[in-house]
Amino acid sequence: MSKDVRIVANWKMNKTIREATDFISKLPNTIAVLSIAMPFTALHACTKNKPPLLSLGAQNIYFESHGPFTGETSAEMVKDAGAEFVILGHSERRHIFSEDSGAVNKKIRQALLCGLEVILCIGETLTQRDENKTVEVLREQLFESLFELTEEQLDQISIAYEPVWAIGTGKPSTAQMAQETHFMLRSFIRDKWGQVASEKIFILHGGSIKPENIQELSSQPDIDGVLVGGASLDVGVFTQIIQNAGNIKK
Ligand code: PEP
Repeated sequence: MSKDVRIVANWKMNKTIREATDFISKLPNTIAVLSIAMPFTALHACTKNKPPLLSLGAQNIYFESHGPFTGETSAEMVKDAGAEFVILGHSERRHIFSEDSGAVNKKIRQALLCGLEVILCIGETLTQRDENKTVEVLREQLFESLFELTEEQLDQISIAYEPVWAIGTGKPSTAQMAQETHFMLRSFIRDKWGQVASEKIFILHGGSIKPENIQELSSQPDIDGVLVGGASLDVGVFTQIIQNAGNIKK
């Protein structure tokens, strides 16, 4: 099954409206399929004059549709502001805001109901890896987050495997280690949702992606793209990542 490598930026809590629109205006016109998950506040402004193949996304939503939930933002609201997708279950949400896979499952359902595509993040901490719990942790995060979702719903979901020890540390996973884990995740999907679903689903890799390692990581057979945090904040560095990934076909 042929796929274009997918590149997704995660800006986290960075960029004002002006900074975000300025960044987008500096992206090369030639960009292929690309996505940026940005703060809610910048979404609407960035829908204007964005390159047609650039999709915009949010980094979180609440699982209820509306009501007395002070400070929360619904799937419908981010869609209305211009989001086409949402990142859910990011390790910073799981570890700083104590979000568990049950809550992530409810958020995924709400996002799909509102027509948002989902990027589900999973990943083990260094302690879990050192204690040989990587397989168990990833299985739990994957299956609980996707609990009782159908093969059809899976069409709207990508997975981002981001080992927590590689996020923001400058110490990425080796390509071989990443490939082995992606292969395992694809086999989990195959066992539960079948061969076709396992081939169709995008499994992205995240954690200290930079221009120097994008080629090697994205060339692995089970790595369908990348989720880029820190290195997506500077338009020059991010453009280099896009260019270095440009000639990889899966
Ligand atoms: C992330 O937080 O999703 C991420 C991949 O961060 P970084 O690229 O900075 O490691």
